[in-house]
Amino acid sequence: MKELIVEMEKYAKEHNIPIMQKEGIAFLMKYIKANNVLNVLEIGSAIGYSAILMASSSLNVKVTTIEKNEENYMECLKNVKKCGFDKKVNVVFQDALEVNLSEENKYDLIFIDAAKGQNQKFFEKFKYFLAPHGVIITDNLKFHGYVGKSDEIESKNLRQLVKKIEQYIEFLNNNEEYTTKFYDIGDGISISVKNEQSA
Ligand code: SAH
Ligand code: MG
Repeated sequence: MKELIVEMEKYAKEHNIPIMQKEGIAFLMKYIKANNVLNVLEIGSAIGYSAILMASSSLNVKVTTIEKNEENYMECLKNVKKCGFDKKVNVVFQDALEVNLSEENKYDLIFIDAAKGQNQKFFEKFKYFLAPHGVIITDNLKFHGYVGKSDEIESKNLRQLVKKIEQYIEFLNNNEEYTTKFYDIGDGISISVKNEQSA
């Protein structure tokens, strides 16, 4: 397992795949353990690094992870098999915005870590699959330190992407259904919790 993880970190580096930073994944694993999370839904598997580590954080946790890139999906499947997690990690090869999950499936933790410009769409789509007291966690809210400084970015594509992340943060801050806390961990993480319904 340890060897596979090191191998995956190396593969990610060589292929420019943005897997979670060590501090970020350690935080997620701790969260899963401390809060007795049993069912995780991940948007954006890449090669399965975060899915496998989340699945390894406690005995009973199961992860469903969605990936739309075929090469990453294949690599993810291979890695899940290698560590014997076929029963713990379910990899879905589809665009998350097109996927049809059974309404009966509810998740204690939904982890958004896919296309950074689509965070709000993912949030609005998958919030209906949150178990009571479940949380939505989003990664890369600092985006390498660019967030909050979008006006200074020269590249148009990058500027637009960072602006989208800034808008997502505003969406979270202004959301009356959910309360969000932001953590300066890894590349920036948020945890959104549904507010208690008032009678
Ligand atoms: N969670 C992974 C890293 C994910 S990188 C880890 O930390 O190990 C982001 C991944 O999201 C990429 O592999 C990309 O192909 C995928 N992705 C982007 N948009 C997507 C979408 N709409 N549906 C599914 N996967 C998507
Ligand atoms: Mg990430």
